[in-house]
Amino acid sequence: QDLDAPFSTQCQDPRMAASQPRENAALVMLARNSERDEARKTIQNIEAQFNQWFNYPVVFLNNEPWDPDFIRELNASVSGNAIFDTIPAKDWSYPPWVDPAAARQSMAQQATTNVWNGGKESYHHMCRFYSGTFYTLPALAPFKWYWRLEPGVRYTCAITYDPFAAMARHGKTYGFTIALWEEPATCPSLFRAVDDFRRAHALPQTPNWNALLTTNSGDTPWYLRPYPLRKLAALLGAAHTSRAGDRWNLCHYWSNFEIADLDFFRGPQYQALFKHLDRTGGFYHERWGDAPVHSLAVHLLLPPGQLHHFSDIGYHHEPFFQCPGNAPGEGQLPGNEALGGEEWSAESEGAIGCRCQCADQRRRNNRGICL
Ligand code: GDP
Ligand code: MN
Repeated sequence: QDLDAPFSTQCQDPRMAASQPRENAALVMLARNSERDEARKTIQNIEAQFNQWFNYPVVFLNNEPWDPDFIRELNASVSGNAIFDTIPAKDWSYPPWVDPAAARQSMAQQATTNVWNGGKESYHHMCRFYSGTFYTLPALAPFKWYWRLEPGVRYTCAITYDPFAAMARHGKTYGFTIALWEEPATCPSLFRAVDDFRRAHALPQTPNWNALLTTNSGDTPWYLRPYPLRKLAALLGAAHTSRAGDRWNLCHYWSNFEIADLDFFRGPQYQALFKHLDRTGGFYHERWGDAPVHSLAVHLLLPPGQLHHFSDIGYHHEPFFQCPGNAPGEGQLPGNEALGGEEWSAESEGAIGCRCQCADQRRRNNRGICL
C-alpha cells in the first residue's frame, strides 16, 4: 500500500477541519529586524491561505532583541497568539571547542572557493542553530509540533485541513515539500560523520538509509541517479563517501519548509547525533546546512512511513516551487469564487482557491526529482 498518500485530494470547506480540536503546535519564523516587510507579507499569506481558520500561534525568533516596530506590525498580522523570543547567545555562537579565529579562517577560505554563504559567519550560526539547539529552546518547550516559515516564502493554494492533525493521525514525524541535491562543496565530510555515528551506535543500514546512497544501476531513472556523476565523484575524492565506501546521493529536503514533531528532534537519539556532528566543527570549518543534517537524520533514525511529502501544498521559496495540480472534486472556498482555478503567479499571489495549477507543468510536483 501507499505509505505516503497525500493527506487531502479534496477541496473542502476549511471550517469543517477547523471545528475539530487543535494540535499542540506553533508556526515558527526565524527572522531579522531588517526582514520586517517580507516577514509580514509571509504572515499575511499564511493567514490568508491557512491560519485565518486555524489560528495557530506564531513564534518569532531572533538572535537580537526585537525592534518594537517589528513586534507591532507582526502582532497585528497574526490571527492567533504571536510570541517574540530572543535566542540565547550560547545557541547562536561557537561551541567552546571551536576556535573562532580558526573558524573565521576556514570561512574566508570557503568564501574564495564559492561555497554558498560560506563566508557569512551568521549563516553558519543559523545553520548550527537550526540543526540542533532550535529544538531545545524554552520558547518551543510548550509545543509538540512546529511548522517552519521564512520571510519571503509563499503558500500558493489554500490549505483546507489541519496538517498537524493529519501528521498526528497518520503517525508522521517529518513533512517536506521540496527535495533537492545539496551543493557538494558545502559539506564534504557531513555524510561520513553521520555514517560514523551510525556505526558507533550500531544502527542498521535500513532501506530508508540506503535510499540516500547513490546507485550505479543502468536502469535507475535519471532523477534517482547520483548528482555528482562519476567524473565529479573522482574530483571530490573521499567527499560524501562513508568509510565503508557508500556514497551519499546529496538528496535532502529543503528545510525552509518543515512540519515536524519537535519530540523527535529534542529526543536523545537526534540530540546525540547533533552533538556528534557539532563536535567535529563541521558547522564552521565546512558550511553544513541544517537541511541535509535533518534529512540524513530522519533517514537514519525513522522508517519511511514516518516521512511525509506534502504534495498537496503549493509552496514557493526562491528559486524553486512546488505546485499541486487540480485536485479531483475541486471547488472554491466560500467567498472566493472568483479566484478559484487561477494559475499561480507572483501577480496572482493574493488568490485563494483550492484549484491551483502551475503555468509550467514540468515543475508541477517535485516528487521524484530527488528522492
Ligand atoms: P537561505 O534560504 O538558505 O538562502 O537563507 P535565508 O537567508 O533565508 O535564512 C534562513 C532563515 O534564517 C530565514 O528565516 C532568515 O530570516 C534567518 N536568518 C538567517 N540569518 C539570520 C541572522 O543572522 N539573524 C536572524 N535573526 N535570522 C537569520
Ligand atoms: Mn530562505
